[in-house]
Amino acid sequence: AQERVCNFAAGPAVLPENVLLKAQSELYNWRGSGMSVMEMSHRGKEFSSIIQKAESDLRSLLEIPPEYAVLFLQGGATTQFAAVPLNLCRPDDPVDYLVTGSWGDKAFKEAQKYCKAKVVWSGKAEKYTKIPSFGDVEQDPDAKFLHICANETIHGVEFKNYPVPKNKSGLLVADMSSNFCSKPVDVSKFGVIYAGAQKNVGPSGVTIVIVRKDLIGNAQGITPVMLDYKIHADNASLYNTPPCYGIYMCGLVFEDLLEQGGLKEVEKKNKNKAELLYRTIDDSKGFYRCPVEASVRSLMNVPFTLEKSELEAEFIKEAAKEKMVQLKGHRSVGGMRASIYNAMPLAGVEKLVAFMRDFQARHA
Ligand code: PMP
Repeated sequence: AQERVCNFAAGPAVLPENVLLKAQSELYNWRGSGMSVMEMSHRGKEFSSIIQKAESDLRSLLEIPPEYAVLFLQGGATTQFAAVPLNLCRPDDPVDYLVTGSWGDKAFKEAQKYCKAKVVWSGKAEKYTKIPSFGDVEQDPDAKFLHICANETIHGVEFKNYPVPKNKSGLLVADMSSNFCSKPVDVSKFGVIYAGAQKNVGPSGVTIVIVRKDLIGNAQGITPVMLDYKIHADNASLYNTPPCYGIYMCGLVFEDLLEQGGLKEVEKKNKNKAELLYRTIDDSKGFYRCPVEASVRSLMNVPFTLEKSELEAEFIKEAAKEKMVQLKGHRSVGGMRASIYNAMPLAGVEKLVAFMRDFQARHA
């Protein structure tokens, strides 16, 4: 374990060490089956037990009501940018997008192909550093749903509470890719929640969709079979070969999160870590800066810049020398970004802030 780095990557991202060690111990021969999970039939009793346990543990973690289906799919959150409108609307239906960062913008652009998508608010002019007060957002009463990205991974902007949809169907849809299972969520407020697994709950290749069952079965005729929620719900995510190994890994992570005491406990740890990092930035007398409005700063992705921007490359290089990697900001915004998902231990953030203070002392 000594050779592992502090991995601040935005995703694929750090996974819990005990989960990796467990997967390692089960890799060659899963629980006496004589096979690795990668070699199993997805319809056999062993894999059935794996996917069923993963689903039931996720249901416990998020307290998912029985009227919601849980789907384990492929194609990443990006595929859901199309699947959501294809499943929920006719081509002529208006739909509202509240855009607080570049992922919400991508979702909107994809949706335009399949419905009459409209941006009801965009933070672009302010470089995606804010979330509006919901009263200021003029929603279309005829919109089929209101879409948000609960946590913008690149810009570090996170909804702390959720807008109430003013549309007739009352539907709110959320991309929760980068804060999935980082805190409790009242699932009943949403029509659909979707998330790529590769930040908080597993490897890339698994996409989780939580969808209210009464919304299933209305997909547009042109919907590819692989994007139709009804097909996947009717077949318990086994219509075709699912990403079996990835689902197994997600299951191990869900077990670990339950063992930690569930999402309330996980949220406490995440708040602690984020507060330590933001405090270090804010107390640096401007040496470090975080552009995001304080009330909506993400607990997961912490973007920051250096007042002396010419030192940023040096910062990243020195950090990497001390085994803190992937701190470079997204190519579209520059600066630095520390992603501190569930599996980033407090010790990792402590090491980063100690380095930041030392770097400042040497370069101020
Ligand atoms: N939404 C958000 C919030 C993301 O962070 C990402 C990935 N970084 C995506 C969507 C796209 O996910 P995928 O790569 O799984 O398609």
